[in-house]
Amino acid sequence: MPSAEATNSNVDPAELAKFGALASRWWDPNSEFKPLHDINPLRLNYIDKLVGVNGKRVIDIGCGGGILAESMAVRGAEVTGIDLSAKPLKVAQLHLLESGQKVDYRLIAAEQIADEQPESFDCVCCMEMLEHVPEPPSTIRAAAKLAKPGGWVFFSTLNRNPKSFLFAIVGAEYVLNLLPKGTHEYKRFITPSELSAMARDAGLTVSAFTGMTYNPFSKQYALNNDVSVNYIVACRKPI
Ligand code: SAH
Repeated sequence: MPSAEATNSNVDPAELAKFGALASRWWDPNSEFKPLHDINPLRLNYIDKLVGVNGKRVIDIGCGGGILAESMAVRGAEVTGIDLSAKPLKVAQLHLLESGQKVDYRLIAAEQIADEQPESFDCVCCMEMLEHVPEPPSTIRAAAKLAKPGGWVFFSTLNRNPKSFLFAIVGAEYVLNLLPKGTHEYKRFITPSELSAMARDAGLTVSAFTGMTYNPFSKQYALNNDVSVNYIVACRKPI
C-alpha cells in the first residue's frame, strides 16, 4: 500500500525524514526541540487568549511530536493532530500515555482531511511547518477549509531577509547550535506580506502579526512586534 507520504504531492520526503530521524528526542526539553518547548507557553497563551480553546475543536497541522497539540488538550480543547511523518506521530501518541491527555493523532495530509471534514474546527494551527512544505498556498487553503465560519487560523513561520538568514540559519544552526545544521532552507522562508497574500487568496482575513524573538544572552523567547525573524499570523474565516 502506498504511504500517505507517497500519495500526497504537497510534501517533501527529505523534510519528513529530518523530523523522523530526531523523533525519539521530541519531548526532551534539552534536545533539538528545545526551541519548540521554550516558545510553546508563549504561543499557547497567545492562541488561548484569542480563541478560548476550552471546549473548542482544534486541529494542529504538522503537529510533530505534539508539543502544542497536547498543551491545547490540557487547556480543555478537543484536539486533532495531523502530520505526514510517522515517527513523530508515534512519539506524540506514546506521550499521551505519560500525560493522560487525549488527542486524536492521524497520519493524513491537510488537503485530505480538509476534504473529509470541511468547516469543522473552531481553531486551526499550523506552526513552524509551512517552511518545510513545497506548496505553502495549498496547505493554507486546506487550513482555511478546515475552519468553521468565524473560526481562527494561525500560522507561524520564518521571515525571509538578511537578518532572518543570520539569526535563523547562521546563528541558530551554526553558532548557538540550537537546531541541527540543515534544519531550515532560506529559500523556503516566507515574508509576512507573502503569507498575508496567501491567506487572503484562501479566503481568510488577516487579523494580527506577532513576532517571536530570541535573546541569546538571556536565552529567553518573547512575543512582541518584531516580525523580522520568526512570527505568528492570526487569521479568521469570515462568517
Ligand atoms: N508544529 C509543531 C512541529 C513543527 S516541526 C510545533 O510547532 O511544535 C515541523 C513538522 O512539520 C514536522 O513534524 C514535520 O514532519 C511536519 N511536516 C513537514 N512537511 C509536512 C507536510 N507536507 N504535511 C504534514 N506535516 C509536515
